[in-house]
Order: sequence, then C-alpha cells, then structure tokens
Amino acid sequence: MNVFADWIKANGVSEVECLVPDMSGIARGKIVPAQKFVHAAQSRGLRMPESIFVQTVTGEYPEEDVTGIANGDIYLMPDASTLRRVPWVEERTACVINDCSYADGRPVEISPRHVLKRVLALYENAGWRPVVAPELEFFLVSQNTDSDYPLVPPTGRSGRPETGRPAYGVDAINEFEGLFDQLYDFSETLGLDVDTLSHEAGNGQMEVNFDHGNALDLADQVFLFKRTVRQVALRMGLYATFMAKPMQNEPGSAMHIHQNLVDAVSGRNLFADENGADTELFRWYIGGLRKYLPQTMLLFAPNVNSYRRLVPDYDAPINVHWGRDNRTVGLRVPESGQSSRRVENRLAGADANPYLAIAGSLVCGWLGIQNKVDPGEPINGSGYTRAHSLPRHLPDALEKLKAARQVREALGEDFCEAFMSVKEAEWDAYQRVVSSWEREYLLLNV
Ligand code: GLU
Ligand code: MG
Ligand code: MG
Repeated sequence: MNVFADWIKANGVSEVECLVPDMSGIARGKIVPAQKFVHAAQSRGLRMPESIFVQTVTGEYPEEDVTGIANGDIYLMPDASTLRRVPWVEERTACVINDCSYADGRPVEISPRHVLKRVLALYENAGWRPVVAPELEFFLVSQNTDSDYPLVPPTGRSGRPETGRPAYGVDAINEFEGLFDQLYDFSETLGLDVDTLSHEAGNGQMEVNFDHGNALDLADQVFLFKRTVRQVALRMGLYATFMAKPMQNEPGSAMHIHQNLVDAVSGRNLFADENGADTELFRWYIGGLRKYLPQTMLLFAPNVNSYRRLVPDYDAPINVHWGRDNRTVGLRVPESGQSSRRVENRLAGADANPYLAIAGSLVCGWLGIQNKVDPGEPINGSGYTRAHSLPRHLPDALEKLKAARQVREALGEDFCEAFMSVKEAEWDAYQRVVSSWEREYLLLNV
C-alpha cells in the first residue's frame, strides 16, 4: 500500500481529478478512475503534452522554435499533501495537484509550480522560510448572453440589483448568504484557510483573505479557491470574474500578497528585531522589491487588460514607493508588531497566476537581500502625486523582463523564454483587433 492507495481507500473515492496549474493558473489535467490513479502514481505517472504550458488565452500556440519545447509527453507526479475531496461533484471525487517531469526524471522547468519551488529553494538553502498571505478580489456578475454587456451586477436576495453598495457594506454580503455559505462549506472540504470575507469597493466586488502560511501551500490554495468561487457562482446562476479591470468605471481586482521571512528553525520573524525595530534584512527586502518589481511586472500583470487596473485612484498602485499603512503605493507596510512585521506587495491583479506572482515577489526580495539594496525612505501622503514607474502595457513589461538578467536567472531561463513567447503571441493577437473605440473616434474624424 502506498500513501495514495491508503487515502483513496480511507475516503471511499472512486475518481480523481489530476490537476496541473498552467501558465495562467488555470487547472488542466485528467480525470481518472481511482484505481488507475493509484497505479499511475506508483509507476511512471499519467502523461500530457508539454504544450499545455504554452497555449495563449486565445487558444493559439507560439512557434515551436520560439518556445524551445518539442511538445513531447510530460509525466504527472501527484503531490500527496494536496489530496482533497472535490465538494461540488456528487460522485466521490478527489483532486490532487501535480508536478511534472520528463521521462528521464528531470523536472519540467516551465511549470509555474516548479518556478515557485525553485525560488523557495533559494530561501531554504539560506535557512529562511517565506511566509505569505494573499488577498483575492473578484466580481460577481449576472450571467448575460449579450456579449457587449456581459457585466451586469447581480441581483441580491431582496430582488434589488446589487448596485451603489458601500465598501465593506455587510448587508450586501447578507444578500448573497447562500452563495457565501456554500463557498465556506466547499472551502472547508478543500482545506482552504479562508480568514475573512468582505465586500470591496465595487458593485458586486468581494474580497477573501487567506490565513498566512507556507508559500507553496498558499499558491495551491488560491489556485483551488478560484475554481471553487467559479463553481459556486455558477450554481447560483452568476459568474465570478478575476479579470483585473472588468469595468472601466469600477475599481479593478487585485491579489495583494503580504510577505515576511522567518528563521526556518526557530520560526522567528526576521523582519523586526527584539525591540520591534525594522531589521536590515527587512530594508534590503523592500529595496529589492522596489528595484526589481518593475522588471518582473509581467508576472503580476500578465494580460493586456491587467494594465488598465494600474491607474491613479481606486487604491491600485502606479509606482513602487513604499509607505507605512499607505494604500496609494505599491508597497504597504501595515501597522504590525514584532512577530507580524511584513510588507504587502499590491502590484498583482487578481488575474495573475498565484504561483508566478508569489515566486516573482519572493525573487525580487531575495535579490534585494543579495545585493543589499537600500529602499530609501517611506513616503507620506498620496503616492498618486508621484511619477508612474511601472510598465504601462504588456510590451513594456516584456521589454523589462527581457533585460532583467538576475531576475531571469533566478526564475529560470527556460521558463522566462516560454512565458515571454506566450505573452508576445497574445500581444500580437490583440494588436490585430480593431476596437470599437477606434471606429467610434477615428472612422469619421481623421
Ligand atoms: N481593488 C484595489 C486594486 O485594484 C485594491 C483595494 C484594496 O486596497 O484592497 O488594487
Ligand atoms: Mg481589497
Ligand atoms: Mg490588501
């Protein structure tokens, strides 16, 4: 018997969803009968084509010679610590998250979960462990078949449309009582440590905060949680969207990532000393975020739409200044005592892949420590009065990552090449589209 067979038996599971998070953080994989899964886990594993990692959002593939992949088979290696029951399937179904390797056992370097593991190994070798706590925002919208206006805010239980609601309004949450009851139930079955749920500033916009913990586990949790929210919303006749800026006159949706480092053995927070003062490590970490985040932006803002969120106001950042309890800059240090001193990286949109956004942030902090980068002084007052210092669109972010030697080395060259080819192909596809804005303002005016 092995750990998989034991678990399957103990839980009376008849089917297993074998999941692989792709480049966008979307679940790919295979659903197999439990016995077949146990057999595969004991032998070489299930197979899939490597190309799942380089498909664009429009369903196309960059040229093979650009991605450098031969699109052979890769083998799925289930991570036993991620075995869970799938709460929304009647059949007793389990799911498990997989790492991927080639036939000769080498890991698939372009797998986002591998990229995060690679970055975590840097910290492990130094005797440190990152602690992260993601916060995820999303909109609930009515299902509308009119493709020009798919984003109607939903109607609550009272029958009133969910519009003009105040941020942190509790009544608006009550109106979705059934939805959130189910979301909490499903999250519990899936072992997701959901800490708080609140109504954000937009109409029908919600936010979930996760308990802080191990970086890989939290990336897995966000990956599973996005699936869960989509499933629950569908059951209630709604859609959940994690698009960064779904509506132009509403706030965008972010994935803030709180982070700090602890001593791997004692668990002591390395960002504040015994007296509660900021440590040198903390300052270098922030220095690293300030210096390297703009170069790594593609991981936090991976879509054409991501950049529409990063405009003044709406509490989204336009630069990487840091500030104490300041929501108008990219890096906020919340009021926090010795054990919880941390920095909140506010750059990532909810559309970012959690594995890549967490890996990207940890890489920047790591490089800051290695290079002892001084963070300068925190700023007071609105960050919106300061210069815009983040890439403004996808090609800008692509160019920055291309030139970022240290970041690319730490994330892995193969991954960066493949990721950039996918994003370049997406930009090309977008560039071919003539938008309604162009026809409205240019057709008769130029
Ligand atoms: N929705 C805002 C953004 O797009 C963040 C709001 C907040 O501070 O939680 O970044
Ligand atoms: Mg928020
Ligand atoms: Mg936040």
